[in-house]
Amino acid sequence: MKKRSIIHLDLDTFFVSVERLLNSELENKPLIVGGLGDRGVVAACSYETRKFGVHSGMAMKMARQLCPQATIIKGDSGVYTKHSHIVTEIIKSRVPSFEKASIDEFYADLSGMDRFFGTWKFAGELRQSIMKESGLPISFGLSQNKIVSKIATGEAKPNNQLLIEEGTEKSFLAPLSVRKIPMIGNKTFQKLLNLGVRNIQMIQEMPVEMLESIFGKNGRTIWKRANGIDDSPIVPFHERKSISAERTFHKDTINMVQLHATLVAMAENLAFQLRRGNKLTSNVSVKIRYSDFQTYTKQAKIPYTSADHIIIPKILELFKQLYNRRLLIRLIGVKFTGLVGGHYQINLFDDSEEMLSLYTSMDKIRERFGDQSVIRAATLGGTSVGRMDNPFNGEPPILHAHRQQ
Ligand SMILES: [Mg+2]
Repeated sequence: MKKRSIIHLDLDTFFVSVERLLNSELENKPLIVGGLGDRGVVAACSYETRKFGVHSGMAMKMARQLCPQATIIKGDSGVYTKHSHIVTEIIKSRVPSFEKASIDEFYADLSGMDRFFGTWKFAGELRQSIMKESGLPISFGLSQNKIVSKIATGEAKPNNQLLIEEGTEKSFLAPLSVRKIPMIGNKTFQKLLNLGVRNIQMIQEMPVEMLESIFGKNGRTIWKRANGIDDSPIVPFHERKSISAERTFHKDTINMVQLHATLVAMAENLAFQLRRGNKLTSNVSVKIRYSDFQTYTKQAKIPYTSADHIIIPKILELFKQLYNRRLLIRLIGVKFTGLVGGHYQINLFDDSEEMLSLYTSMDKIRERFGDQSVIRAATLGGTSVGRMDNPFNGEPPILHAHRQQ
């Protein structure tokens, strides 16, 4: 395989750094960003709070007890989305092909640049210009592949950079905790601990068949990653990922109850698919085709989210703005674009633990019983969206939401 040079860049304590950019008095002080309510959750915390045991995802109440001296700020997903876009533009202006893995994380393939600049030098200059132009600290790892670079970034942090030279991947990984391998979550970690496996070296020394017998086909991936082997490609950002759904009505309609219910059902189903794919959207659009076949779309940029209660009102608002001809409607559609990897975290500021666990349990039921098993009351009057069509309403089945790479 051809030698590659892959950089992984990750903004340091992103929400915290943005808050400090907006208010320099917060510099070097313990700072927690998250929901302020009684049932709020920590979305991000500064390094100063970590030695007290504070971490993201923790109940805010607990964090306050562990670190009472911390300043606590209610996060603002709109502001973070804006700064995420700023950093994306800076990277785009310097690197032709890059992947935006989440709101604060990027991969780029710098192979070929070494002939002219030397990739390490180029990467270092890229980091300096991001910090200078955005005002935000960022760290990176540079190696032959995505996995090793991502782990290297984690080791470089905060505010630093790390090069793992070709041939030294295994020895770099060997002393690290198995937990540092991306994909090793709590369950796998516990299982490995029970087997007495703590550092990556122990996985390197195990036969791959043994891992396969314990973890199935994931076992081989774990073994490969532990050995610094990974050939996954960069998925360029310009091939923007999107998901969409649309419905052609059996009979052209201006029945608002039916139209609203269909839009809500489609938005709900797509949002579920976002959460299931661990993705967030920053751009939603609505499409209308009238009975004369004229088609109109309207889109809106929104702060990164995968939450129904943020997306649905936006979709209905767009529809209201878009529907201005006194004509019957033949087709409506909903589309989410600008997708990046990410979890609920960005919506933790307003949401209580109840809201998050509500989503988790709704999604669990959907996983088990199908997309339609949980639907909002508003959609009950509408037509069905999802895997199973409704055989009782005489309508043709809706087009299933489809993914585009
Ligand atoms: Mg980060």
